[in-house]
Amino acid sequence: MSSLPVLVLNSGSSSIKFSLYEAGNGSRTRLFEGAVDGIGTDLGKFWMKDASGNKLADETPALPNRSVAFNLVADALQSGKFPKPAAIGHRMVSGGPTVLENQKITPALIDEMDSYAAFAPLHTPIAVYIMREALRLFPSVPNFVILDTYFHRTMPEVAKHMPIPEEYSAMGVRRYGAHGISYESIVYQLQPNVPEKLIVAHLGNGASISAIRSGKCLDTSMGLTPTGGLISGTRTGDIDPGVLLFILRKIAEKTTNAEAAADQLEAVASKKAGLLGVSELSNDMRDLREAIADGNAKARLAVDKFTWTIAKWIGSYVAELGGLDMLVLTGGIGENDIASRAEICAGLGALGIVLDAQRNNVRGAAVISAQNSPVTVRVIPPLEDLIIVNHVLRLLGGQSDPA
Ligand code: AMP
Repeated sequence: MSSLPVLVLNSGSSSIKFSLYEAGNGSRTRLFEGAVDGIGTDLGKFWMKDASGNKLADETPALPNRSVAFNLVADALQSGKFPKPAAIGHRMVSGGPTVLENQKITPALIDEMDSYAAFAPLHTPIAVYIMREALRLFPSVPNFVILDTYFHRTMPEVAKHMPIPEEYSAMGVRRYGAHGISYESIVYQLQPNVPEKLIVAHLGNGASISAIRSGKCLDTSMGLTPTGGLISGTRTGDIDPGVLLFILRKIAEKTTNAEAAADQLEAVASKKAGLLGVSELSNDMRDLREAIADGNAKARLAVDKFTWTIAKWIGSYVAELGGLDMLVLTGGIGENDIASRAEICAGLGALGIVLDAQRNNVRGAAVISAQNSPVTVRVIPPLEDLIIVNHVLRLLGGQSDPA
């Protein structure tokens, strides 16, 4: 295949990241990348860089809604400075119970995924909006959906199934997991020596952890939605369902509208909880570390809950895998927060996880375990865009996934 310009569109709950690759037989060259962040605020961010890192845009526009945000991306793509994309890959957190394969996007497929917005309520509305806009902007260009849930499709039923009445299971309520493209990219980078017993923790503003056997997902912490699993920036993670019922009843004292009450409960569990809820300060690890240095007890408790929960989860996945060969930490916190890495691993010596303080004193890719640690601990930044481009090229060529 001669090389093709492939556009990657990756939306978060309040951001749109984009990058254009020149991709062909084994070669992947990024021509430019950028992002619009802070959608829904008066002081958003819009930046773009070319392949050499030169700034093409660095602005702080008002971004009242996603339409204004996407127009900035559309204008950049149509500026004529770069080739028109020959294909577009869209990251999608969850396509619900029926859209489980990476595939070409049609208007009907978008409607189908939209109907399952409850499976990723913070992410699906903006992702389907961008898909519809991209189809309108480039009507002759094939668009593909690349799913985070795809990597987790190999989980056994015992990991997927939720302990709920069958009528809800029949509606597709089960564990799907998220961050799958990040996990896929870690396994991809470890090839050809993927350890048999691997745990990867993706610790970003959203945090999750997966047990991976011989490169295939065995279990993952996020559930039906990204709100489950580890405590993260603004999400509870797994929690006694009685807590949600308690909060729902408190909300119901003030509103009789069931839909409005559900929205409020969702905001509590997904946007106001986690590190932010406990610290009453910030969902950002950098802010919390600063506050801890100033003696802030709530920030200390929030971060302790975070690292303690991750350590517990690592223990349970060692049990599931029947041992451990390698632990990989990734995501903004995994890659950069030296203290979190040390705190997570501090009590895990009994599992064979021993960090080397000096090796751990770095940012970015590194082996951070001690020479004699039975388990290798690595920091590996994810390459999500690369995985999306790889899938797009495969699907353009009509090939099935060798995995
Ligand atoms: P992500 O969602 O992967 O972009 O990760 C965001 C999280 O990474 C936030 O909690 C940030 O505070 C954290 N993070 C990013 N850079 C650093 C850094 N240099 N030190 C500590 N935490 C960081």
